[in-house]
Amino acid sequence: MSGMASESEGRPLRPIIVWFRRDLRTDDHAALIHAAKQHVPLVPLFIFDTELILSLPSDGAAFNFQAEALVELGQQLHQLGGTLITRHGRVSDVHREIIHELHPLALYYNRDYEPYARERDAKVEQIYREADIDVHSFKDAVAHEPDEVLTGKGAPYVVFTPYANAWKKLSHPLPFTRPKPFSTPHVPHDRLLGARELGKPIAISDPAFVGGEREAHRRWRHFLQSMIVAYAKDRDLPAVDGTSKLSASLRFGCISIRRMIDDCDKALHRATTAQQLSIKKFVDELIWREFYVSVLYHYPGLTHSNYREEFDKMPWRFSTKLFNAWKEGRTGFPLVDAGMRQLNQTGWMHNRVRMVVASFLTKDLRHDWRKGAACFETKLMDIETSSNNGGWQWAASTGVDPKPLRIFNPRLQSERFDPEGDYIKRFVHELRRVPAKYIHSPHAMPPTLQKEFGCVIGKHYPAPIVDHAAASAEYKRLFAAIKSR
Ligand SMILES: Cc1cc2nc3c(=O)[nH]c(=O)nc-3n(C[C@H](O)[C@H](O)[C@H](O)COP(=O)(O)OP(=O)(O)OC[C@H]3O[C@@H](n4cnc5c(N)ncnc54)[C@H](O)[C@@H]3O)c2cc1C
Repeated sequence: MSGMASESEGRPLRPIIVWFRRDLRTDDHAALIHAAKQHVPLVPLFIFDTELILSLPSDGAAFNFQAEALVELGQQLHQLGGTLITRHGRVSDVHREIIHELHPLALYYNRDYEPYARERDAKVEQIYREADIDVHSFKDAVAHEPDEVLTGKGAPYVVFTPYANAWKKLSHPLPFTRPKPFSTPHVPHDRLLGARELGKPIAISDPAFVGGEREAHRRWRHFLQSMIVAYAKDRDLPAVDGTSKLSASLRFGCISIRRMIDDCDKALHRATTAQQLSIKKFVDELIWREFYVSVLYHYPGLTHSNYREEFDKMPWRFSTKLFNAWKEGRTGFPLVDAGMRQLNQTGWMHNRVRMVVASFLTKDLRHDWRKGAACFETKLMDIETSSNNGGWQWAASTGVDPKPLRIFNPRLQSERFDPEGDYIKRFVHELRRVPAKYIHSPHAMPPTLQKEFGCVIGKHYPAPIVDHAAASAEYKRLFAAIKSR
């Protein structure tokens, strides 16, 4: 590599900066592995852009997860002989300081595809290039980058199935071997910041979600060994622990997507036909993640606008009272309420229920999907702009989903996916004694039974805040009207 000073000249070797962002692990970390091959000291760097963080809406769940993952990253780097260097400040300022202090040989980092990150990274690359320092970026967060999965004409896919078919035709990148040991020169660093220090008053802590590489691998091994084969059957049942719960680990890069896909490929070879269906279903979900990464990469304006422009004319409405009832889980629709309370209590919500609560807010309450997406941004531990935006626009019918209109009936969803009400009762405690017959529509319970089960409607638990049939009919009418304009 050009410009490398050798120790024989009596000067210390110029280090390579490995900039960690949403890739908080050492296993199968593309930038780290390539940097370690250069046999020079490495400076693993993480920057808290405190100004940006303070402006983010998160209530802290995601930052807590990140803080845990950073502590462990420090330990893992230590085992390789290095030290994690954390700095606080504006990203470009910190990089300028680092260049000034260390005169590094190169910057290595893994690519991020979100609109904000791309802009930031382009600026940082420019700073290094102006200082005549090499920059090397790597594919790491996805198996196939947005520009690798394109139609025959080189256009992005906007429908999932053809995207997934094209994705599956590509050969998957294999995990790298363990990075070689390295050293880190003495560099001053700031302390690690958790949610509280970042001014994000975290109220939740769920042992099911611990940030860090070790916990992500433990969960992944458990899922792979005993759960993935039943995934197709269990994934839609919120009362069952049937999904990987690795979304926050994937978001913060505590586990490598290459490793997960490679493990799934190996598991497929050992599986029966029925088990293979389940494993393939799981891989499909990983592809959904990359599909939404690709959609947002090619259409960055979707963070604030509808993919289907006719929805610009949709007369959304807003009621603080209704919105707060939804947000706090007091709508009188048990599955919706359980979902929102799960989110408030744990920082995570089951996928089936995310779809139901999002449909409810947009179709039943006719609130703009952007309000819901912003609420999820404050609360989700796994908040990922691409998937959150994709999920909300899917639920609101404003996005890339080709199905013209789908409206979830919250009661039918509840009967189908939580028949005994086990999930509902876990989060909506006032319904704990309500029998399965009434758990999906507690307001239909005769008053004597309401008293007997300690759940008087209007006193202990609300009556439904909206008439689903009337709201759906109205939504369909408005949908037809905006389509014909
Ligand atoms: C309105 C709405 C908002 C959402 N917001 C987010 C978000 O901010 N961050 C996020 O990671 N996921 C989001 N999702 C997708 C999905 O709900 C979560 O990824 C999933 O519930 C995470 O649980 P899990 O890890 O157990 O998933 P599993 O079922 O175990 O799936 C494995 C992985 O596949 C990916 N995945 C699964 N389903 C989807 C999907 N529908 N879209 C994209 N990726 C998927 C995730 O990375 C997940 O960890 C959202 C879905 C909806 C409907």
